Amino acid sequence: NFCACGNVENKVAPAIPADPEIEANIQQWLERMTLEEKIGQMCEITIDVVTDFGASKEKGFTLSTAMLDTVIGKYKIGSLLNVPLSVAQEKEKWAEAIKIIQDVSMKEIGIPCIYGVDQIHGTTYTLGGTMFPQGVNMGATFNRELTRKGAEVSAYETKASCIPWTYAPVVDLGRDPRWSRMWENYGEDCYVNAEMGKAAVSGFQGNDPNHIGAYNVAACMKHYMGYGVPVSGKDRTPSSISRSDMREKHFAPFLAAVRNGALSVMVNSGVDNGLPFHANREFLTEWLKEDLNWDGMVVTDWADINNLCTRDHIAATKKEAIKIAINAGIDMSMVPYEVSFCTYLKELVEEGEVPMSRIDDAVARVLRLKYRLGLFDNPYWDIRKYDKFGSKEFADIALQAAEESEVLLKNEGEVLPIVKGKRILLTGPNANSMRCLNGGWSYSWQGHLADECAGAYNTIYESLCNKYGKENVIYEPGVTYASYKNDNWWEENTPEIGKAVAAASRADVIVACIGENSYCETPGNLTDLTLSENQRNLVKALAKTGKPIVLVLNEGRPRLINDIEPLAQGVINVMLPSNYGGDALANLMAGDANFSAKLPFTYPKYINALATYDYKPCENLGQMGGNYNYDSVMDVQWPFGYGLSYTTYKYSNLRADKALFSADDEIVVTVDVTNTGKVAGKEAVLLFSKDLVASSTPDNIRLRNFEKIALNPGETKTVKMIINGSDLAFVGYDGKWRLEAGDFKLKCGDQWVDLKCAETKVWETPNK
Ligand code: BGC
Repeated sequence: NFCACGNVENKVAPAIPADPEIEANIQQWLERMTLEEKIGQMCEITIDVVTDFGASKEKGFTLSTAMLDTVIGKYKIGSLLNVPLSVAQEKEKWAEAIKIIQDVSMKEIGIPCIYGVDQIHGTTYTLGGTMFPQGVNMGATFNRELTRKGAEVSAYETKASCIPWTYAPVVDLGRDPRWSRMWENYGEDCYVNAEMGKAAVSGFQGNDPNHIGAYNVAACMKHYMGYGVPVSGKDRTPSSISRSDMREKHFAPFLAAVRNGALSVMVNSGVDNGLPFHANREFLTEWLKEDLNWDGMVVTDWADINNLCTRDHIAATKKEAIKIAINAGIDMSMVPYEVSFCTYLKELVEEGEVPMSRIDDAVARVLRLKYRLGLFDNPYWDIRKYDKFGSKEFADIALQAAEESEVLLKNEGEVLPIVKGKRILLTGPNANSMRCLNGGWSYSWQGHLADECAGAYNTIYESLCNKYGKENVIYEPGVTYASYKNDNWWEENTPEIGKAVAAASRADVIVACIGENSYCETPGNLTDLTLSENQRNLVKALAKTGKPIVLVLNEGRPRLINDIEPLAQGVINVMLPSNYGGDALANLMAGDANFSAKLPFTYPKYINALATYDYKPCENLGQMGGNYNYDSVMDVQWPFGYGLSYTTYKYSNLRADKALFSADDEIVVTVDVTNTGKVAGKEAVLLFSKDLVASSTPDNIRLRNFEKIALNPGETKTVKMIINGSDLAFVGYDGKWRLEAGDFKLKCGDQWVDLKCAETKVWETPNK
């Protein structure tokens, strides 16, 4: 059994079993391709950048064959991607473009081109497609099946756009609330990201990674890895992740999804402990390809080979940067920008600086992906058979996802539900904006076209009017966002708080929709995590009216609200629920649907108290006084896993089928959950573990499993969750997996149970 990555003998079973026919075809190609053709396959460019490859500049979406003749004909480019032309197009437009590309590609090289797109929260780049809540919302659902279905819908609609490859799911750990991409992934916890990542991969790809079906696409797990903790909090700035955290937490979702058949991985743009990820041979080749015996494809992020030279300064020249990256294990360069990539890489091979075996390995991985997608047989297809595109069936799933993702954080005096007939003052800059509901990666990179492109869907204002009657909804925003397009998303117009306050006298209850405008990546960097002063002033002024206030937080990351939270009776964090988020909110606010979401991240209260729930406990925090509850220790606004509903649940009888376990044991844990309230609901049952003593300070607590159940009033269900003994291992200071003999506890709801590990076991590999 040989790993395809460099003929290293590998005892691990292949992550994806090789298909002999595909492998034979790849071999034949490798034998007859020229070096130039091979290098072309390792290159992915964007339509605008084709001009840098010598084609004449042409504006607009329409591709000319002349343009492509230069790019594909001369440089044999094997892949194209969406951006920066990246504004959503009709599916027919996509299909037309892809057909042109494929006709040229088949004529010039005989190898189909692979086209990729950032459909990251549903069908983000095809007009009329089904948008799903952003990743952080899907994390809050704690519903794997819903995440799988969302990916399945997105795959279907992406295929209906003639596109076979999506740059999703995003499984970075959103562990720093200052980071501008916190909302793209499934929250701060590695297990949630691993489980949702796996679910999304199976929704995108279907069951057979060697033969991706007509309604499925190839997933691209991103961004490998450790992207979510830049030390400065700003996007793509360096991190300093310990080896144990890297192996145990940041690697976890990739490990899980690669084992589940994920076909491609995109690399983190950043630098960790001084080494850019794009130059890290250990991570790219050893951990991912060799250790897991994975024959999938590794693509760079945007222009990141160039960045090794121009930004990271680990290479004096662009040519040296190419050598470092390709030798580290990069298979495809996304947007090399200049044609020099092709000429330099050819020189490097001829000079013996990049081995031919590495080129062949990279090209084999690119071709394998194309074969697995069936592109050689069908480089494009008739999109008319995709008649479920944008259907009611798909919309219903997205609405359910939105409803299960909006978190009720406070409900004092039962301010919610707001019964019909009440008069609502709807205020705040987020109350009437599709852009705000969607966030970035929505019809465009920065999401700034959403108001225009999502006119058919309801803003919160429109949804509340539909629910309560227009005559019962007084809309007075008080604060509005300036109409800047891409950047400057944070700018606000001169507030008109007085108008909102005056309108409050006509209302029974105030619903203040506050938060952020849409943004993505570096333009979303922050200087202050506190919610804008205008918005906080709006809430403070409204509080003086004495009318009850419900805060609706519509934001990609938790903005600090410690001064206004006490002024509100209700708080709902809708985060970025997308096109059906307004309707979902109206259903939830009116009590026509019940809340069931839980926070997949820690909501901080103070800027100097940023913590994740699995922090390392410390005597200085007063932690060890028998109090395992980090919210009182770190003084957070709301802890990870927090979320209320219109009913209450009682947990009882938590038990494990064994008190003593070893690494290879399966521990069956059961707990009884009863709906003790008056309405039906869904409850996310979260199972945590705690290691009491270990050779490295153990984490506070760790999520080990979850299940979402539905319960009628008075109903009890016994929830069964399995933990493998080895799940309770950690990565020690020595970089090895360790399960150590000694005491553990399991926690579910308010229930605890004791467990003991019988023997210590140490693993050398990334496998648990
Ligand atoms: C982002 C990636 C994205 C790529 C292509 C980059 O700037 O970091 O997440 O997939 O662009 O659009």
